Amino acid sequence: MTNAYKLPLPNVQPEWDIYWEKAKAHELWTMRCNDCKEAYFYPRAICPNCFSRNTEWFQTSGKGVLHAFAIVHRGPTAPFRDAVPYVVATIEMDDGFRIPSNLVEVEMEPTAIKIGMRVEVTFDDVTDTVTPKSRSSSNANRVSEPPARR
Ligand SMILES: [Zn+2]
Repeated sequence: MTNAYKLPLPNVQPEWDIYWEKAKAHELWTMRCNDCKEAYFYPRAICPNCFSRNTEWFQTSGKGVLHAFAIVHRGPTAPFRDAVPYVVATIEMDDGFRIPSNLVEVEMEPTAIKIGMRVEVTFDDVTDTVTPKSRSSSNANRVSEPPARR
């Protein structure tokens, strides 16, 4: 826990309470629809696929593959300018949904980051009162499976 964290903190919305509460416990949760069986992110009460309200929270595996990424070398605003380079990514989770993330613990070189590489969630406890943000990690020491080929 530190006050040195300079990036903007999430604007926590009430319907995300469980997401942030579980993130504090270093668990990644989202919602799924009991009618069409689709999992989705971000969490909301109404299924974005079939508009059913028959939805529920579930704990994800926290694992997936890298779907897309960009290495940011020019931050859009002041706090991000000090954070470069960093990787913004979309992760295809094993549980059937995509989630935006930062890819951490990787070399900031395009040749070191591969679409389809196995990743897992990790957590950054950025403050005492505001929840950690979730990130995906491609650190080979933490992922037991070889990079997936799609
Ligand atoms: Zn649905």
